[in-house]
Amino acid sequence: MVKALTDTYSAFKSIFIGMGITMRHLFTRSVTVQYPEVRDKLPERVRMKLHVNIDDCIGCRLCERACPVECIDIGTIKSTDDDDLGETSTGHKKKLWVDNFDIDMAKCCYCELCVHPCPTNCITMVEEYEYSTYDRRDLIFSFSDMTPEQIEEANRKLEAEEENKRRKKEEARLAKEKKAAQKDADGGGDASAGESSTGKSPAGKSTTGESPFGDADSSSAKSEASGDADADREARREAREARRAARKAEREAKKKSEE
Ligand code: SF4
Ligand code: SF4
Repeated sequence: MVKALTDTYSAFKSIFIGMGITMRHLFTRSVTVQYPEVRDKLPERVRMKLHVNIDDCIGCRLCERACPVECIDIGTIKSTDDDDLGETSTGHKKKLWVDNFDIDMAKCCYCELCVHPCPTNCITMVEEYEYSTYDRRDLIFSFSDMTPEQIEEANRKLEAEEENKRRKKEEARLAKEKKAAQKDADGGGDASAGESSTGKSPAGKSTTGESPFGDADSSSAKSEASGDADADREARREAREARRAARKAEREAKKKSEE
């Protein structure tokens, strides 16, 4: 009997506590938002998605280097002497075509480390957050506005210009060699008469033709270093091209399967 009375008391007490909470919330302001019709104001400096104003990008790749998870992929092509790419809104002269600017938001950790080094403030975090998708590959956002034809044309012009410069350099070198040989032939007798007893010519070169100051060594070291840098750059370019081609093939395959 006592137990039944205690249980009844507990039941009524629980009902009154519950109803008290319900009544209190009936008269307080609601905190729920009827999304998507109603949206809360986001906090200042919110990090939701990266956006690149490609018109202001100078292709310096500082953002790419700053990214700790390597989710930015930038490709550039040097402009030729007759190209005028103009200036950014911050007054920086543009010298590179940005033929590829991809950001993989699936990898991004929203650290914003890429935003701060940008000299033209063209990469920013924006308030857009509705970009969920069923396929991770759709989270790669491309910002370059160059068409394949424009990329091909820029590459073709650059190659032609480099070839032209190489040819001119080679011609200058041959002309210099020819001039030196002519000079040697003209003044050969005088030069041998002018050799010192140490076997060095008056011009400071030994008879073996080697410079006493190791100029040949240092110039060959320099050319080796520049050759390594060229090879490195070429390897990076090739890797980037391969990545781009693979991504393009993937997208095309996906588009076809959707059709
Ligand atoms: S926010 Fe961080 S992780 Fe994302 S792209 Fe920028 S540097 Fe990389
Ligand atoms: S740091 Fe800025 S200007 Fe340089 S490549 Fe990145 S987005 Fe472009």
